[in-house]
Amino acid sequence: MEKYKKIGIKLTPQRLAVLGYLEGNTDHPSAEDIYHELLKKYPSMSFATVYTTLSTLRQKGWLSEITIDQGKKRFDPNMSDHNHLICTTCKKVVDIKIPFNLALPEVAASDFMITGSHIEFFGICPDCRKNNRYYQEETEQCA
Ligand SMILES: [Zn+2]
Ligand SMILES: [Zn+2]
Repeated sequence: MEKYKKIGIKLTPQRLAVLGYLEGNTDHPSAEDIYHELLKKYPSMSFATVYTTLSTLRQKGWLSEITIDQGKKRFDPNMSDHNHLICTTCKKVVDIKIPFNLALPEVAASDFMITGSHIEFFGICPDCRKNNRYYQEETEQCA
């Protein structure tokens, strides 16, 4: 609660619920995900409140936004430098917690002074692999 005061927004119970939901969350939820989850506990929660709270937090630098599929923004409360693994089948987003070398060859940098990077790796997550969801999709496409 104390640290949320630093954000500089009016802390209504509904906004606090959104903040509480995001605290330590590593699922990279969308606004829809957050809304549906909070609605179970807060039946008066409105989607607009969730959405504007997320936008405000992003503007104030408390959240980052990941665009994987167009039209569905996903939010990440982890503001430390990290990269992502994205499942192309179920759209799960997982943090890559271990730093690794991402040096861009000087010739590829177009004279930019590089100040940061964010890499997204795409693949099939263990759950989808276990359930052969990837292969199912392949056969559906062939049929
Ligand atoms: Zn998956
Ligand atoms: Zn992340």
